[in-house]
Amino acid sequence: MEQDIIKISNLEVFAYHGVLKEENSLGQKFIISAELFTDISEAAKDDDISKSINYASVCKAIEKFLKENTFKLIETTADKLATYLLKKYDRLDRIKLEIKKPWAPIHMSLDTVSVQVERGWHKVYLGIGSNLGDKEANLTEAIKLLNEDEDCDVIKVSSLLTTEPVGGVEQDDFLNGALLLRTLKTPSELLELIGKIEKELKRERIVHWGPRTIDLDILFFDNDIIQTKELTIPHKEIANRLFVLNPMCEIAPWLRHPVLGDTMIQLRNKLSE
Ligand code: ADP
Ligand code: MG
Repeated sequence: MEQDIIKISNLEVFAYHGVLKEENSLGQKFIISAELFTDISEAAKDDDISKSINYASVCKAIEKFLKENTFKLIETTADKLATYLLKKYDRLDRIKLEIKKPWAPIHMSLDTVSVQVERGWHKVYLGIGSNLGDKEANLTEAIKLLNEDEDCDVIKVSSLLTTEPVGGVEQDDFLNGALLLRTLKTPSELLELIGKIEKELKRERIVHWGPRTIDLDILFFDNDIIQTKELTIPHKEIANRLFVLNPMCEIAPWLRHPVLGDTMIQLRNKLSE
């Protein structure tokens, strides 16, 4: 899919970032370039700036951020500034940001030293389930904790459906659902957050596939295909579980499984047969 870009080239800001004391006290010139990935179609159709990202405002925000914070490294500066802008501008999906230091104090002549980062919101689907205690309250609490994380926004939540347990362990019915999340985290950072929330809700992990107050699974992470020791994405059981496919069909029926190539509806039809 093509994406629209608003470009800012070589914005100059005088600030105090650097490893050396002199840099922090005397300051120097930083030059910032940014590519703002955003959908401009609505703004263009209506010729309405309130439906776009106001680049004058972004330039001011960059200047303010760079003057109000002081970091040793331009690596840190670029990373934090990109995250700050992504959170501040709702229409900003992704940003490529370069910070140049033309006066880098290395006692040699150079044009610039620079760091470029690319950061963006990821679209993630999670499966959620509970079969111990007040199941609905457990799920609601987990959703709340996810949404409270500063790098995550819960966008859409499916209805919660009661399902009989699988795996042969004698236990209570499950309450299951799925949700859409946007996050700035990497897959492993998200796994870590999920683990923390599961722990906080005192998930019991005595019996494998046994009762648990909360189970959070990463179903899809963008269109990524990931296989590491601790992560399989897409989640390996999606095609075998109606309690995953039913809520997914509700919130993302046309989403295509990046490995199997079928939509959620097709996967559900195949499993129901
Ligand atoms: P299950 O969800 O299959 O009932 P668990 O929740 O107990 O089993 O499994 C948790 C472990 O599964 C995590 O420690 C994690 O490393 C691993 N895992 C692999 N892929 C995923 C994924 N997509 N989402 C969540 N956990 C995953
Ligand atoms: Mg799990």
